[in-house]
Amino acid sequence: MYDVIVIGAGPAGSVTARTVALAGYDVLIIEKNEKCTSPCAGYISKTINIEMPDESVIQSNIRKMRTYFPDLTYYDFALNGFVVDRSLFDMGLLSKAIDEGADIKWNSPLVDMGVGQNPCSVKFRNGNAGGRIIVGADGVFSKTALIIGLQQQRFAACSQYHIMDIQPIPQTCEIFFNTDYAPGGYIWIYPTGKNSAKVGLGMINSKKSPRENLDAFITGSQMAHRISGKRTEYITGALPIGGLREKFVFDNILLAGDSAGMADPITGAGINTAILAGELAGKTIIKALENDDIVELQEFETGIKKLLGRPLGRSLEKRKKIDDACNNHFLQEHLPELWVTFKQYWL
Ligand SMILES: Cc1cc2nc3c(=O)[nH]c(=O)nc-3n(C[C@H](O)[C@H](O)[C@H](O)COP(=O)(O)OP(=O)(O)OC[C@H]3O[C@@H](n4cnc5c(N)ncnc54)[C@H](O)[C@@H]3O)c2cc1C
Repeated sequence: MYDVIVIGAGPAGSVTARTVALAGYDVLIIEKNEKCTSPCAGYISKTINIEMPDESVIQSNIRKMRTYFPDLTYYDFALNGFVVDRSLFDMGLLSKAIDEGADIKWNSPLVDMGVGQNPCSVKFRNGNAGGRIIVGADGVFSKTALIIGLQQQRFAACSQYHIMDIQPIPQTCEIFFNTDYAPGGYIWIYPTGKNSAKVGLGMINSKKSPRENLDAFITGSQMAHRISGKRTEYITGALPIGGLREKFVFDNILLAGDSAGMADPITGAGINTAILAGELAGKTIIKALENDDIVELQEFETGIKKLLGRPLGRSLEKRKKIDDACNNHFLQEHLPELWVTFKQYWL
């Protein structure tokens, strides 16, 4: 019997597990894959204090974001962050949890759990375990949320290549708004070194697949001459864009990170919020275990709403505006109200 079972070894899950294990409680993480592989561009802002597992995880420091309007005029904004190798970054966070005593079971997707039970029985491929508290940190298509009976979240579909033999602008994240390639979303070029970059896009409604749109951007757009290198490491993924779930604590079951809609509905950024959520979930769980009172877990929901409710709510309003008028003419005129690096976004 475990004190806590965490579903998913992404940032939200590993940080929760590490925080709780550090306090001496028994923690099990079950992960569906054989290693950490969340698809991602890997931009992390230094707005919260993030301990890097080690320097080799960092592919580029970032000092600037360049945001392009559909006509390719642009606006530069100073940023402080880095692009990381996402798999190494996640493995680093996980190893900190394991160092504190957490157990991990790989290749163990969640199959079912006893909602309403305390302790709760958790069934995964090839095994079962019991836990007093369960944390669903299993991402945008959270199985935990489905088992509780929640609806699947609205999402943006993404695809990305790691392109070699090109020269990205150093220390600069480039963002392109153009509905011909990324309706309802945007295209990114994030440097991973002097001669390579991650080039990807997120989009909502399109007759073409994300990959078709991305290939068209790489080969047929006005940027083609800058990014037509060797395409490697193709990935697909999804981002929640429906905003924070109304409820994400259900007796002894918590949802943290993307499973609870904690990524930004416009930028798609969710690593920092997943880490924040993991820290807060961990601290709240420790209190609940110390006092043997699961009612205290509600403080996680209250705390997250205080921290993230306003920024995510604002972003969701912008998302609705983009949904209503998703075309280049509208973006050319209104982008400053819709994208975080412009001061008009905050008015
Ligand atoms: C293409 C792409 C690019 C992105 N770029 C950025 C970026 O540059 N910066 C940024 O901040 N955010 C970015 N994001 C968003 C970011 O990846 C997520 O917000 C973040 O990973 C959320 O962390 P999490 O721990 O909640 O979930 P995840 O990182 O998704 O981790 C969930 C874990 O649960 C596991 N899992 C899933 N189902 C089960 C199951 N049934 N049983 C057991 N385990 C399961 C998964 O394998 C995974 O390891 C991007 C997303 C995509 C798709």
